Amino acid sequence: MWTKSSCCGKKYNQETLKKMKTFDLTKQYKIFEKDIKKRVLKVFSSGSYILGENVKSFENNSRKYLDTRYVVSCNSGTDALVMSLRALNIGQNDQVITSPFTYFATSEAISLVGATPIFADINPHTFNINPKKIEKLVSKKTRAILSVNLFGQACELDKVSQIAKSYNLSHIEDCAQSFGATYKEKQTGSYGDIGCFSFFPTKNLGCFGDGGLVTAKNKRIYELLLKLRTHGGIRRNQHDMIGYNSRLDEIQAAILDIKLKHINKLIEKRIDVAESYYKLIKNEKIRLPFKDIKGKHTFNQFTIRVENRKKLENHLKKYKIPYGIYYPKPIYKYKAYANYKDNYLPMVEKVSKQCLSLPIYPELELKDIKTISNILNDYK
Ligand SMILES: *Cc1c(COP(=O)(O)O)cnc(C)c1O
Repeated sequence: MWTKSSCCGKKYNQETLKKMKTFDLTKQYKIFEKDIKKRVLKVFSSGSYILGENVKSFENNSRKYLDTRYVVSCNSGTDALVMSLRALNIGQNDQVITSPFTYFATSEAISLVGATPIFADINPHTFNINPKKIEKLVSKKTRAILSVNLFGQACELDKVSQIAKSYNLSHIEDCAQSFGATYKEKQTGSYGDIGCFSFFPTKNLGCFGDGGLVTAKNKRIYELLLKLRTHGGIRRNQHDMIGYNSRLDEIQAAILDIKLKHINKLIEKRIDVAESYYKLIKNEKIRLPFKDIKGKHTFNQFTIRVENRKKLENHLKKYKIPYGIYYPKPIYKYKAYANYKDNYLPMVEKVSKQCLSLPIYPELELKDIKTISNILNDYK
């Protein structure tokens, strides 16, 4: 149905516009539906719902994929971060240097264990922490750097890791958005002492609820993580420390184990969508995301920058193009961090006013990408 709604002489298909979403999880379900139903039904009838063979299998397979020594699955990416900080014995009176441009959970985890997040400004091109801004924030209280691989792209992991080493700090990677991304041919999560992943449905590898995973290099840390996951002990009636109830359940593990087999294909499809955007969007007013050639960007988000975001938002709304604002303000500006009101980091201040994320997911169709690109090209 081609209707009056036109822009600069072009007409847009109203049916397409009405149906478009920033992400559509039903399409991926359709692809794996048969396998998932079969395996999940098997979980139902097995009577084994917690830490059973599906968790074991998924942990084995993800350890191989992520090329790391140890993995511990858990209940969410947030829990992965919290347990990592706890395993490193980070808490009260400790400081952790992190990015102010990320999902709230990154710094929330630091605060949850009683430590203090210290925010380092970002590189406006990559949206990731700027290694050059880290060193002058290191103090006697600093214990770790918690870097984020935002939108599916690694930060400068070698530099961040090197800084951590030279000051005897731990390095934790927030890989919630970067499953499968690489930097200098190595998986994200394999640079830091610990890597934290999320399987929230919209992440690169998503389950049908909450899920997370921690990677570790060191056996002592691994054993602490195992304890933290189940109330401070591994065996029944063993409680060596105050822990959590943070297990990945068998149903989510079964789903993840199926999807993990296809993760490279799913990531390639995300990259294909991004490549189409790069090819089709031609508008000087729109700055396309920067790709660091040292790594593989997995495009968990396709985030553009524009001088007058309000104006672009109105333009997109007029044509019912969905979009997201990741993220609308620096972390230190949220009410929960009211005590940070003196923080002002110029790059994150600027970028958070300019960023806008376009629809992206592996199954996004070329005709939708074309419509979105045309409408963006008509933005004046
Ligand atoms: C999603 C996300 C988290 C939190 O993961 P959950 O599984 O939702 O708890 C943490 N950090 C970043 C950067 C994220 O995108």
